Amino acid sequence: MSTTPAQTNYDILILGAGLAGLQCGVILSRNGYKVLVLEKNNHIGGTLQSFDFKGIQFTTGLHYMGSLDEGQVLNRLFHYFNLLDGISFKRLDEHGFDVFNIGGKKFALPMGWNAYAAFLIDQFPEEESSVRRYVSAIESTVNEQEIFNLHEPVNYYHEKPSQSVNAWDFICSLTENPELRQVFSALNFVYAGDKNATPWYVHALINHYFISSSYRIVGSSSQIPERLKLEIEKTGGQVLTRQKVTKLLFDEDRLSGVLCEDGSTFFGEKMISNIHPIATMNLIENGRIRKSFRNRLEQKTDTLSAFAIYLKLEPGKFRYQNNNYNFYLQSDVWYASGYDTIRWPEHYFIHFPADEPDPKWVNHLSIVTHMSFEEVVEWEHLPSNARGADYKQFKREKADKLLKLVFLEFPELEYLITDYTTATPLTFRDYVGSPTGSMYGTLRDYRFPLASYVGVRTKIPNLYFTGQNLNLHGVMGVSMSALLTCAEFVNLPDLLNKINDQS
Ligand SMILES: Cc1cc2nc3c(=O)[nH]c(=O)nc-3n(C[C@H](O)[C@H](O)[C@H](O)COP(=O)(O)OP(=O)(O)OC[C@H]3O[C@@H](n4cnc5c(N)ncnc54)[C@H](O)[C@@H]3O)c2cc1C
Repeated sequence: MSTTPAQTNYDILILGAGLAGLQCGVILSRNGYKVLVLEKNNHIGGTLQSFDFKGIQFTTGLHYMGSLDEGQVLNRLFHYFNLLDGISFKRLDEHGFDVFNIGGKKFALPMGWNAYAAFLIDQFPEEESSVRRYVSAIESTVNEQEIFNLHEPVNYYHEKPSQSVNAWDFICSLTENPELRQVFSALNFVYAGDKNATPWYVHALINHYFISSSYRIVGSSSQIPERLKLEIEKTGGQVLTRQKVTKLLFDEDRLSGVLCEDGSTFFGEKMISNIHPIATMNLIENGRIRKSFRNRLEQKTDTLSAFAIYLKLEPGKFRYQNNNYNFYLQSDVWYASGYDTIRWPEHYFIHFPADEPDPKWVNHLSIVTHMSFEEVVEWEHLPSNARGADYKQFKREKADKLLKLVFLEFPELEYLITDYTTATPLTFRDYVGSPTGSMYGTLRDYRFPLASYVGVRTKIPNLYFTGQNLNLHGVMGVSMSALLTCAEFVNLPDLLNKINDQS
């Protein structure tokens, strides 16, 4: 299909209203661009949205956030995006924001690097020098990543030393103590660490993000995308839902617009895709983009997906905990990349929602663990309402197994569940459109530091990427991807000054 220049309505079309797409929308709209964000789902926010189950709002991909203390990086960003006024965030227990049971041994990780180091030295007095070297390695790696400190990157496309170091190997080089190696690695689930691939910088950034300070949102996580939408609209931008982009349209050689499932077309000068890179390539007909570029993206591996169970509980019976609870059956938190489907589940993460600022009880819980897309591949081509009795049985059996493991630690829960629903890798795939429903997008690999990384620019001059598949996942990583994408359109030092000056 070809278009005439007169049909070009928008300066920038943003495909997908995940966190990064919405943040790009706010920045670009505030900078005078005429922006339209197109979202396939009924609700915006991607994995940040919450969903309603039997009258209760469950969060999907926002269990907690890091670095939100006054002056810290996420705090400055949230200030810029106007996310701090009218939305409440609850600071988790500073003496144990993340509680771990690793192979029967319990640890409660304290918040703040001094407290964290003191705690580990107290637990492993003979390992003081290893602990100090670990903490200082995290600090220097985080400092090396300028954008994560809201400083302009010197050379964004230049490989940093920490990108070609294996996280697990580096941890092992610091200490011979097997237990301390596991405690250093405890936050593994929140970056889907792979022993053979994950670079040290991913470990360092994620640990720094959460250990610096940890918060959860009070109430529904959809407040964040909804607020960002309002911010876009305030400066004249638009966000449309139920607009699934099915094809990128070209005017001769130039990308000019998009076709949506319902037949609508939208035209723009430039386009930003917040959709998974491989799914974005599937929107482009063969011959429009260099095969080598398409192949390079297709060869990337994604991080593992998840199985989640969302429990509705009898009200007023199960105590709120101001922390996350992480359980590992084995004493190896890196087990998941090669997990045994027969022994599954060997891990779970419990999220205690804060529906009010000072909750005493919870009336719902989310429990999440790893699951590979391979486990659901037989139903991948069937629509969600036609996967049949086998799929229902699969979900029931998995839920039973997971709950059985959870009841060992929380026996009272067995009598408090009034209803539940589950999500599999297919649910996550359908929900955000990533090919294997991966939790955190593409897997970064220390062996191919630049090749395993998705850049902002594509081989189509007016098409850009944003989102968790770029540098890093999570609220922090995704926000940084939005800044780097917007640096293609606005002056980055000016933008960073605005963000840094607002705190
Ligand atoms: C189970 C789980 C738990 C998590 N917990 C945390 C946590 O506690 N803390 C944290 O910081 N991070 C967490 N994350 C990660 C975090 O949620 C993500 O990194 C982040 O939200 C990803 O944002 P994104 O902008 O990359 O896009 P996505 O959320 O992937 O959004 C992409 C958007 O594009 C839309 N789209 C796709 N295809 C099309 C199309 N063809 N047309 C139009 N629109 C389309 C999708 O519907 C979606 O809205 C979690 C993730 C998961 C899955």
